[in-house]
Amino acid sequence: MVKKFLGILSLTLTCTLLGVVNRLESAEAAACDPTACQPPKCFCPSVNPPGGLPLEKTPQFFLLTFDDSVQEGTLKGKSILICMKNPNGCPIRATYYVSIQYTDFSLVTQWYAAGNEVADHTMTHPQDPFDDEIIGCKKSLNAFAGIPNGKIAGWRSPFLNWQPKTFDVIAQQGILYDSSTTALTDDATWPYTMDYGLYNDCWKGFCDTTIHPGLFEIPMAAIIDDKGTPHLMDPHLDGTPDVVKGWLQDNFLRHAKQGKTPFGLFLHPAHLNQIPGVPLAPGATDPAKNLQMLEEFLDWAVAQPDTWFVTSQQLLEWMKNPVPADQLKDFAPFSCQVPKIGKEICNGLDDDGNGQVDEGLVQNCNFNTVVWNTCYGCPSENPSLANPVPKGGDRFRVPTTCDSVWWDPIANQCLCQDANCAYTDLSKPVGNAGDNSTNAGGSNKGTNNGQPNENKKSGASSITSSNTMTLIPGFIIASIFMQWIF
Ligand SMILES: [Zn+2]
Repeated sequence: MVKKFLGILSLTLTCTLLGVVNRLESAEAAACDPTACQPPKCFCPSVNPPGGLPLEKTPQFFLLTFDDSVQEGTLKGKSILICMKNPNGCPIRATYYVSIQYTDFSLVTQWYAAGNEVADHTMTHPQDPFDDEIIGCKKSLNAFAGIPNGKIAGWRSPFLNWQPKTFDVIAQQGILYDSSTTALTDDATWPYTMDYGLYNDCWKGFCDTTIHPGLFEIPMAAIIDDKGTPHLMDPHLDGTPDVVKGWLQDNFLRHAKQGKTPFGLFLHPAHLNQIPGVPLAPGATDPAKNLQMLEEFLDWAVAQPDTWFVTSQQLLEWMKNPVPADQLKDFAPFSCQVPKIGKEICNGLDDDGNGQVDEGLVQNCNFNTVVWNTCYGCPSENPSLANPVPKGGDRFRVPTTCDSVWWDPIANQCLCQDANCAYTDLSKPVGNAGDNSTNAGGSNKGTNNGQPNENKKSGASSITSSNTMTLIPGFIIASIFMQWIF
């Protein structure tokens, strides 16, 4: 009850505050000088498509994202959602912001191998993540799900509780974009770089405490209902299915008219399924009905003209090279070539075509209170904040010279034989200065992954009074959605 009251109060405050913000922002938009800030390195916030592309030649992008731990039950909901195709015949793509606690690593491997994006959402989903949460998540995803470090390029703050110091850490750790900030209508821009700080979700136009040249911000545009109330994550929980489907369609069409700014649907997969053994709350909609409504909405959206469901990284790739919609079928970053390996290896794919993925090859790691599967060998203990990559295991981790879809972690072999599939991870090694734990291939044994003393908190900058004001919208928004996030 208290939570509900706080939610309503916060929502009212948020609308009021953001209404003020939007007026101020339009006055400050000139702070980003488009003659000095030039793509592909620098993008000013804008509601107009990049590259001067006319609206009729601009695709309508759809960002479908999922947050928190990846588990078998939650993946079921996503599988139903993502069986649709983009205009080039490839399955639609989505981004998963993964928190490590309770995650089954083998499912992350499968999600990535199917062409989707894996992004960093901390180890333990705290309110106020220090750098060890951000670094540990990247390391664990690399070690036990086989995601190349250079492909973990995105970040979302738990509870959307972004803070200027968070951007400092992600920039240091080679992360290319944040997607934690909220937007309403006139500040729902195309992604932009923080060369001039944040544009949306601030109390005063650009947040001058968040200047990070080259670091992208992908604003989370809210769904506005028929009463003008914004809904951000899991909008299907805020009304009856038929009514919510109407808002979703109206908002999608609004984006299509307003510069074709990317439309987003931001979900917690856990809320797509009823928790086994837990009865529905009085008045709550049956999750199956919500899921069906979302499927209908996605089916409708994918059929709209020039609509593409893309990962966040694919969206940024397109912004750097904004080819017209009628040429997108040949746009290489949107292709979906699947490795043809001919024998089953533990890479998250059904390599032998018998309908099963990695059959007989994943290892089941049982730590009594936590059980998960992996292709990359069970460590001696469950990954933790203090030790995100514990030693142990008899498999070979993905080296920096091979993408994991081509990597056989049992034979210690990269099966990519030509330039088309060649991959070299040139990303900045993750970790603190002097922390030499980035995987360079080879057996788990003998590497210095997971030394117990690594990843000590390294003096993330403290919040100063001058930037405290910029935090408040994040906190307010977070309080609305906390009740939906576990
Ligand atoms: Zn979360």
